[in-house]
Amino acid sequence: DLAPHLEPVRTTCPYCGVGCGVLARPDGLGGASVEGDPEHPANFGRLCSKGSALGETLSLDDRVLHPMIAGRRVTWEHALDEVAARFARIAEEHGPEAVAFYLSGQLLTEDYYVANKLAKGFIGTPHVDTNSRLCMSSAVAAHRRAFGSDTVPGCYEDLDEADLLVLVGSNAAWCHPILFRRMLDARAKRGTRIVAIDPRRTQTGEEADFFLGIRPGSDTALFSGLLVHLAESGALDERYIADHTAGFEPALDRARAIAPDVAATAALTGLPRAEVQVFFDLFRTTPRVVTAFSQGVNQSSQGTDKANAIINCHLATGRIGRPGMGPFSLTGQPNAMGGREVGGLANMLAAHMHFTPEEVDLVRRFWRAPRIITGEGLKAVSLFEAIERGKIKALWVMGTNPAVSMPRADRVRAALRRLDTLVISEAVATTDTLTARDDAIVLPALAWGEKDGTVTNSERRISRQRRFLKAPGEARADWWMLAEVGRRLGHREAFAWPNAAAVFREHAALSGFENAGSRDFDLSGLAEIPDAAYEAARPVQWPLPRKAKSGRARLFADGQFFTRDRRARFVAVQKPVLADPTSETFPFRLNTGRVRDHWHTLTRTGKSPRLSAHRAVPFVEIHPDDAARIGLAEGDLARVSTPYGHAVLEVMVTPGAQAGALFAPMHWSETTSSAGRVGALAQGAVDPVSGQPELKATSAAITPA
Ligand code: SF4
Repeated sequence: DLAPHLEPVRTTCPYCGVGCGVLARPDGLGGASVEGDPEHPANFGRLCSKGSALGETLSLDDRVLHPMIAGRRVTWEHALDEVAARFARIAEEHGPEAVAFYLSGQLLTEDYYVANKLAKGFIGTPHVDTNSRLCMSSAVAAHRRAFGSDTVPGCYEDLDEADLLVLVGSNAAWCHPILFRRMLDARAKRGTRIVAIDPRRTQTGEEADFFLGIRPGSDTALFSGLLVHLAESGALDERYIADHTAGFEPALDRARAIAPDVAATAALTGLPRAEVQVFFDLFRTTPRVVTAFSQGVNQSSQGTDKANAIINCHLATGRIGRPGMGPFSLTGQPNAMGGREVGGLANMLAAHMHFTPEEVDLVRRFWRAPRIITGEGLKAVSLFEAIERGKIKALWVMGTNPAVSMPRADRVRAALRRLDTLVISEAVATTDTLTARDDAIVLPALAWGEKDGTVTNSERRISRQRRFLKAPGEARADWWMLAEVGRRLGHREAFAWPNAAAVFREHAALSGFENAGSRDFDLSGLAEIPDAAYEAARPVQWPLPRKAKSGRARLFADGQFFTRDRRARFVAVQKPVLADPTSETFPFRLNTGRVRDHWHTLTRTGKSPRLSAHRAVPFVEIHPDDAARIGLAEGDLARVSTPYGHAVLEVMVTPGAQAGALFAPMHWSETTSSAGRVGALAQGAVDPVSGQPELKATSAAITPA
C-alpha cells in the first residue's frame, strides 16, 4: 500500500461536518495528493481551503510512534497490560465510576462504538463523554425534546431547493464552506435569499442578502417573536399542528410573554424594528425555508432553548422534512454524528437508546454485558470537575485536546494532574493535554490517511474513511487498543473483532435489534455487510433498516415522530439571559470560534504554511470605536482578561465586531503560542438541558499589553 496508486483512494475529509468526499493519491513516499471526489453527494468534487491542503499536512513530524509510559518507550503488550491492570485496580478500589473516557468527534464510528461498549457494558462506568459536548449537544437535546429522537430531518439537497436560507449563529462561509457554496449556487440558480443572524458580521454576513446583527444570546427572543408573528398573521399550518404535534398553546403563550410583538423583539435583540419586520415577513411568505444553525446557537447556556425556538417555527408552519424546508443543525466535527449514533455521549446508552429499563435490558442482552450501566454519566464540564474533586481517578482521552479546547482550560489542565492514571491515545506528540503531566500512558494512534472506518456527516450520511498510507511506527487503530484492553479485562469474546468491518456490523446489528420502528437510528440493512462490500461501500444515509433498498433523505413530512404518541413537541422556551453578566471590571463580551483555514488546536492545519498564512497569530477582533477609546490600533498587542484567565492577542480592528464585543479564535495553545490559549478565558456555564458550555459570551476586559 506504499506504492503510488494509479487509482485514487476514495475517502472523506477529516475536518468539518460537511463530510466532503476526497480522492487521495499516495505518492509512495508517505505523502499524497488530494482532490475532491466528484461522485460524493456532499461536495461533488469541491474542496475548501482546508480540504484541498490536506496533502500538505501529512508529515510524520511530531508524531507519537510508540507506546510510552512516563516518557519511556514500552511494548504494546506492556502498555495495554498496564492500562487494563490500572483500570481494574481503580474500579475495584473505588468503584467502576472512578474510570472515565473523554472521546472526540474526530474518532471513527468504529472507535467510538468499542469505547462505548467497553465503558458502559463491561467496565460499568457511565462516564463517557466527548468533545462533541462542546459542539452540538444542544442540537441533540433540542431534537430529542421536539422529535423524541436525535434526528436531523432534512438533507443537503434542501439547501439547493430552498427559497430562503436562514443561517443562525453560523459563519458557514468559513466553517462549512462547501455547504455555503451550495447556498450561493442556489441563490444564483433560483434566487434564494440568504439571511445571516449573528452578533458578528462575519464573511457569511457580508455575503448574505440580509444581515441581522443581534445582541449576543438573544436568539430565543427573535424566534419567539417570529412564532407570535406567524400566529397573528394567519401563517400557521393549523392542520399539521393539530394532527402531528402537541404543546403548541403553552409554547405560543411563552413566546408571547417573551416577545409579544415586533417592537418587543427589536428591543430584546437590539435590532431596528424595520429589520425585524423584514425578516418576519420573509419567513412568513416563503414556504421553502431552511433554518441552518451552528455553534452560535449550540455553544450557549441556553443553547437547547435557542434550537427549540427555531424548531417551533418550523413545526408551526409544517415546514419540516419536505424539499427545501426544515431546521438544519450544521455539525461542527467530521464524526460528531457517528459518535451520537453509537451512544458516545454521557446521556445516551447506545444506538440512540437511553435509559428506560427496556432499553437497558435490550443493550445488556445484545452485548451480553456483565456490568451494564443504568443511568447517565457526567457530561464534559462536570466530568472534569469530578476529576478535580478526586472522584474520577482514571481517564482515557482519545484524539482530543481538552487542556486547550475546554472552557476554563487552566482548571482542566490542573485537574488532569490529579488523576491516578491518565491514558492518552493520540497521534500528535506535543499537545497541551499530552504534556500536562509526564507520567501518562501514551498510546500511538493512527491519523487521517492511516485509519479505516466510517464517519457520518451533518445530513446523516455515512461515508467510508479509508486508509491510503502505511501506519507509522507502532501506531494502531483506536478501536483495536480499546478491544485489547477489553480482552485483558477478561472479555475475550465480546472484544474479538478481526477488523473495523466486523465492528461496524455489530454496531449496525445493535441498531436494529428488536427495533420495530420505534427508534430513528436503524442501520440493520448493513448488519451483514461482507468485508468486501464494506471496503467498497458508497455513502448512504440512515435510517437504513433491514430490507430497505436505500437510506432516507428526509423524515417527518408524514408527521410521524419518535415520541410515544408519534407527535412532535413544541417547547415553551425560557426568556434569554446571559449567564455571565458584564461588570465595570469586565465590560466586554468575549466570543470564541474558528477561523477559515485552521482546525481545532492546529495539530494538522498548523503544518500547512499556506493555511497558516491566512491568520498567522492569535488575535482579537474589536470594534473601531472601542479600540479608539482604549487606545488600541490594528496590529497592537492587547491583554484580554476574564475572571478565569488571560491571553495576549494581536488586535484586529473591524467594524464587523459589535461595539462592546470581542472575538478571539480557539485554535492556539501553549504548544503553538504561549500567550494565546483562549479556552482558558471562557466561562463555560452549561446549558441545563444539554450540558453544553457557553463559549460565546464571557465577560471580559481588554487593555494594551
Ligand atoms: Fe473538509 Fe469541511 Fe472543507 Fe469539506 S467543507 S473540504 S469537509 S473542511
